[in-house]
Amino acid sequence: MSIIRVRFAPSPTGPIHLGGIRTALYNYLLAKKYNGKFILRIEDTDQNRYLHNAVSYILKSLKWCGIEPNEGFGYGGGPYEPYIQSKRSYIYKFYINYLLKNKYAYYAFDTNKDLEIKRNEYKKLGLNFSYDHRIRMSLNNSLTMTKENLIKKLKCNIPYVIRFKVIPGLVLKVNDMIRGDIKFNTNYLDDKVLLKSNGMATYHLANTIDDYTMKITHVLRGEEWISSMFIHILIYKSFGWAPPNFAHLPLILNKNGKGKISKRNLNYFKFPLFPIEWKEPSTNKKIYGYKELGYFPDAFINMLAMLGWNPGNNREIFSLEELVNFFSIKKINKSGVFFDKKKAIWFNKQYIIKNKNKIFLFLAKELKNRSILFDNNFLWKVIDLTIDRINFIYEIWDHTYYFFIEPDNYDKSFISKIKDKNYVIKNINILLNKLNFNSFNELKCIFSELENKKFFMKLIRFSIVGSLKGIELFKILEMIGKKQSIKRIKKFIKKIESQVY
Ligand code: GLU
Repeated sequence: MSIIRVRFAPSPTGPIHLGGIRTALYNYLLAKKYNGKFILRIEDTDQNRYLHNAVSYILKSLKWCGIEPNEGFGYGGGPYEPYIQSKRSYIYKFYINYLLKNKYAYYAFDTNKDLEIKRNEYKKLGLNFSYDHRIRMSLNNSLTMTKENLIKKLKCNIPYVIRFKVIPGLVLKVNDMIRGDIKFNTNYLDDKVLLKSNGMATYHLANTIDDYTMKITHVLRGEEWISSMFIHILIYKSFGWAPPNFAHLPLILNKNGKGKISKRNLNYFKFPLFPIEWKEPSTNKKIYGYKELGYFPDAFINMLAMLGWNPGNNREIFSLEELVNFFSIKKINKSGVFFDKKKAIWFNKQYIIKNKNKIFLFLAKELKNRSILFDNNFLWKVIDLTIDRINFIYEIWDHTYYFFIEPDNYDKSFISKIKDKNYVIKNINILLNKLNFNSFNELKCIFSELENKKFFMKLIRFSIVGSLKGIELFKILEMIGKKQSIKRIKKFIKKIESQVY
């Protein structure tokens, strides 16, 4: 079997989002599984929509995700360079000449204005205009003019495009590796432009020539490209080339809205769409990516892998290596899959638990930055007690600070509810005299004997933490110890006495 060669072929017209990264990931997994090659090709034929920072964004994103190509733009790769289409014009010229010579393509001189007029004429008749086999013979192209006229026009540099001459009436049957056999009648295809009037190849020409010349064996790409597949098949046929295997991935749909996810239909400030931070070139506005929002790259990749693929059982957590082992095109969904933000957070949480060491280092750094001394064993205990409360690493300080520092400020909303100051002070003092730290159970017991137990527990928590949050109160008291607990409670009593909160 020949070596598997797959490619990720983004167009640098904007930041790649979830869907793009998932396409790259599935290509990566297939290549790795079969010891093949994963190639990055930049499809920048649409120079009007080209965004200069989009290419570096693609490279940085793949790097952060840990799914880097073996070959391609920014990576090199020998005989198949260059890997960016704007530098491959000389290759496309060579192949377009073949198509022209063998009458698979033709020159078309119709101006935009001509086409606009035709479109309107058709509209008036209630018909759709499409440059296809039905009407190509009534338009201004090399099929409808003499050879002399054509030569004259070319000599005079009259602008033209080159169109593909679709053979009508063929029923194409293509086996999509995900969807099975798909049939299509070429009567419904229009004569797509292959070369634009500025001499640049279009997506259809560049994409097919590149897949062939770069020896791509499998094309895994989004469902939105299915309709292009038929024209591509015809292009391959005209060269006498065998097309690659195709697999069209299901759309990623927005669970809370309508249709497929995109920058347009999402409130993407609340809903992470991009892998890493994107800076809009026109406004310089920054949009956070998964990276900046605190997702681990492996959690992000795991979540994306499951968005359209499953191993055939209920297992959901996979490292990248495990994904490589288990991945199979056969198990990719046919229908669209819903993106669920809650699920994305759930995935990150699973990786929080797997990455305790990282949490430890992060918290240790937070403490060092605040010049707080700590004991490693104590820190591990704190992490064990609080880890199930966080979804993101940056949340850890907010859930653990009270183990290390006493509160300075107290949440006013609770204090304002204290009506009888003297009753409270008297009872806390009674409690303080009784507090016994000999054992956890004794501590619990003392509280259970209190009248108004719930209220006083809240109050003590408040004096220890500064608000009503935190893990089980007795655990906190046990962790910070008698001296520190009493100190904090007394400090709080003073605040109540002086009513300075
Ligand atoms: N350049 C296309 C894109 O921007 C890729 C199409 C393909 O993979 O064939 O998504």
